[in-house]
Amino acid sequence: MICLTLMESSIEANLKVIKKNRSFIDMVELRLDMLNDPLLVTPDKVKSKISIPTIITYRKKRDGGKYEGSDDRRRAVLQIYSKIGFDYIDLELDTFYPEIEKISNENGTKIIRSYHDFSGVPDNFESIIRQLSAKSGEIPKAAVYPKSSSELLKIFDVIKEVKDIKDKIILGMGDFGLSSRILYKKLGSMLSYCSNTNYSNSTRSGAPGQVSPREMVNLYRVNKITNSTSIYGIIGNPVMHTRSPEIHNEAYSRAGIDAVYIPFPVDRLDMFFKLANLLKIKGFSVTVPYKVEIIDFLGIKNPELDSINSCNTVVREGGYWKGFNTDINGFLKPLLLHVEISFIKKCAVIGAGGAARAVISALQSIGLEVSIFNRSHENGLKLALETDCSYYPLERQDLLINYNLIVQTTSVGMFPHVDETPLPGFKFSPDQIVYDIIYTPIKTRFLKEAEERGSVTIGGMEMLMTQGIEQFELFTKHPYP
Ligand code: NAP
Repeated sequence: MICLTLMESSIEANLKVIKKNRSFIDMVELRLDMLNDPLLVTPDKVKSKISIPTIITYRKKRDGGKYEGSDDRRRAVLQIYSKIGFDYIDLELDTFYPEIEKISNENGTKIIRSYHDFSGVPDNFESIIRQLSAKSGEIPKAAVYPKSSSELLKIFDVIKEVKDIKDKIILGMGDFGLSSRILYKKLGSMLSYCSNTNYSNSTRSGAPGQVSPREMVNLYRVNKITNSTSIYGIIGNPVMHTRSPEIHNEAYSRAGIDAVYIPFPVDRLDMFFKLANLLKIKGFSVTVPYKVEIIDFLGIKNPELDSINSCNTVVREGGYWKGFNTDINGFLKPLLLHVEISFIKKCAVIGAGGAARAVISALQSIGLEVSIFNRSHENGLKLALETDCSYYPLERQDLLINYNLIVQTTSVGMFPHVDETPLPGFKFSPDQIVYDIIYTPIKTRFLKEAEERGSVTIGGMEMLMTQGIEQFELFTKHPYP
C-alpha cells in the first residue's frame, strides 16, 4: 500500500492534496502535529471528509514531528480521535496510553507501534523491531536514518532476520534509505510512505527521503515490484540528481520487462557490493566519483576498459561483475550529429576524471588530437601521459581560444551549484563548438555563456540518453523501446 503523509496545516488543504494524488495512493497518514489546531474540525467530520483508510499520528518533535506541547494535551487529543474509529493509530514505543489502546481495540483501530531514529541505524535494530512487535495485534514500525552504505546494508540484513513478523513497516529515511522505500514490498513491509513533494523540495516531505506519490507509482512502479522483479540502479555520490531512472524505468514499462532502476548513494564500494549480492542486483550504472575505482571490483572487463580505465556500466554475468563503458558512444554520437568531423581542428577537454577518459577515447577513436586542461596538475598530467595527450593547467584558459572544440567534463556547474563555471570570464568565439556533458541543469552557465557568444553548443542530455540506451541494452539484452 502507498500511504500519503498529510503535512498541510488545515484539513481543507490536506483534502486538496488527497484529491490531487488520489489515483496513486491507497491510504493517508493524517499528521495531527502539522495541523494548526487538530480540534478545529471535529474528528468525525475529518473521517467522513477524508474517506480513505487513515493512520492518525500525533508526532512529537523528538520523534521527527512538530508537537512540542504537554503530554496530557497530546493524550487528550489522541483519545478524542481514537473514539472515532480511524483505521490505524500510530503510538510510539515509549508511549503508554492504555485507555487509547483499549478504545482502539474496541473500535477495530489497528495500533502501529513506532520507533524513529534520526541519528542512524542502531546496533540493536533487530531487538528494537522485536520489542515493537511484542504486543500481539500491533503493527511494528521502525524508521531509521541510514547515513552510509554499511548502515543501509544493516537495514536489509535485519529485514531478513525478522521475516517471521508478518505485518510490519520497516524503512530507511534519507537518500541512503530511498531504496528501502521503493523496494518495500520485496522487503515485506506492508506500506511505504510518500509526501506531496518532489525529491528536491523536501520542505513538504513527511520525513527525509520521501518521494511523491506520482514518482512512487509512475516512475518506480512500486506496487508492481514482486520477489521476481529484477533490480538495476545507479551508484554515485552525489547521485540523487540523476535522470537515469526516467530513462530506464520508462523503458522497462514500455518493453514489458519486470524490473526497477533505483538511485543508490554510495560511500563505500565494498559495502555496496555486499548489498548488491544481498539484493541480487543485476546491473548498475556508475557515476561520479566511482568510474575508475569500480574497476578493481570487476570480475570481467570489456576490452575497451583497459585503454580508458573508466567504467560506467556493470552487469552481472554468469556469477561475475562485468564492466563496460557506454559514455564513449554516448558522447560521440551526439557530437557527430551536430558537427562534421572534418570541421574539428583542435580539441580541448576540460577535466581529467572518469568522464574525461571516455571523452578522450571517443575523440581519439575518430583520429583527433586532444589537449587536457585540468585543475589539479597531478591528475591532468597523469591522464595526459596515459592517453598520449598534451596537458595545460586550467589557469591557462587563455590558450583555449586556439581550440575549435571545447568539451567540459568537470562537475563544476552541476546542480545545485548552477552559478559556477570552470572558465569564469572566458570569452567563447562563434567558430567554436562547445560541449558540456553536465545534464543537470540542461543548460549550464558554461553553455549559456558560449551560446551568448554565438558558439555551437551541445548539452549533456543527449549524451545521457545515448549512453543510457546502450546501457539498457547491456542490462536487459532487449532493444530500447
Ligand atoms: P570525476 O571522475 O569525479 O571527475 C571530476 C573532474 O572535475 C575532475 O577532473 C576534477 O578535477 C574536476 N573538478 C571538480 N571540481 C572542480 C573545481 N571546483 N574546479 C575545477 N575542476 C574541478 O567525475 P566524472 O565521472 O568525470 O563526471 C564529471 C561530470 O560529468 C559530472 O557532472 C557528471 O554528471 C557528468 N557526466 C555526464 C554524462 C552524461 O551522460 N551526460 C556522463 C558522464 C558524466 P581534479 O582532477 O582537479 O580533481
